[in-house]
Amino acid sequence: MITEQERSEFYKALLDKNIEYEGVFFVGVKTTGVFCRPTCSARKPKLENCEFYKTAQKALLASFRPCKRCDPLSNPNSLSDLVRTLVEAVEADPSKRWIDSDFDALSVDASTARRNFKKRFGMTFVAYARARRIGLAINKIREGEPVIDAQLDAGYESSSGFRDAFYKIMGSTPTKLNKNHLILKASWIDTKLGPMVAIADEYQLYLLECVDRRGLEPEVERLRRNVCASIIPGTTWVIESITSEIGEYFDGKLKEFKTPIHLMGTPFQQRVWNELMLIPYGSVRSYKEQAEKIGRPSSYRAVANANGANQLAIIIPCHRIIRENGDIGGYGGGIIRKKWLIEHEKAHA
Ligand SMILES: [Zn+2]
Repeated sequence: MITEQERSEFYKALLDKNIEYEGVFFVGVKTTGVFCRPTCSARKPKLENCEFYKTAQKALLASFRPCKRCDPLSNPNSLSDLVRTLVEAVEADPSKRWIDSDFDALSVDASTARRNFKKRFGMTFVAYARARRIGLAINKIREGEPVIDAQLDAGYESSSGFRDAFYKIMGSTPTKLNKNHLILKASWIDTKLGPMVAIADEYQLYLLECVDRRGLEPEVERLRRNVCASIIPGTTWVIESITSEIGEYFDGKLKEFKTPIHLMGTPFQQRVWNELMLIPYGSVRSYKEQAEKIGRPSSYRAVANANGANQLAIIIPCHRIIRENGDIGGYGGGIIRKKWLIEHEKAHA
């Protein structure tokens, strides 16, 4: 059921094309008979012509047909075939330097490629391919090859150009690399609530967050500094493991994560996070209760801050902490998502 309050909340989100509501509701338009996701680029209907649904199935049952423009039956922001083709092309030859005519061979228009990549990854295709290429160069530097060879292989004539690009993507210059320098891979995971980013090496998961989470960039920067790592696009078995676990979680089938994780924080933060992981799937606890559990009953504000500093969304279930009066409280990924997660777990507990 949709309450009157939700109706006006959803309509506002529809007008704002608010991405936080992706997967939270669908809108059927009575005048056209189609249903859309909140961020559809089509002209927005009047409120009196809208019917709101919490699942695409319900909209279908009400005999609306899926909009061709926003494709409400696919995951929001899922990889388009075009982007997938291009990512695969990069993986087939990661050292390749792309020029416009290469796109012809793939029957892809270069400017379409640029636009689609920008939308999906926040960087152009050329920047993506370059990040991948530089990743290869870093591996060579770690294996002991001189910087200049790695640089030529990566396709950079000018040393400063290489350094600049390297710094921008990885936050460290090649000469500073040493054997202890970690290479982390970053990958995007599609979920019902929009894309998430996972950062991992071959052993552990370091970060899992909604791509549009407030403060994601400084968080990634902190990670990079703390573990002395470079981050490049790519995947590892850890990322494959969490991708499949997250998929099962959103299907309501998985209640406990098994992918190995790396907790990065002060001893106090780690205690708070370990306590969070003890809250059973489908239940909630208050900030105050949690503070009592870890034996610091008066410092629930510090506990709340530690919750917020958690870098493994969903796995460390800070969405299961609410205010004592029953209010939903804050959430880095937005309270809309927090509400959705709590209801989702209740429904599948
Ligand atoms: Zn649409």
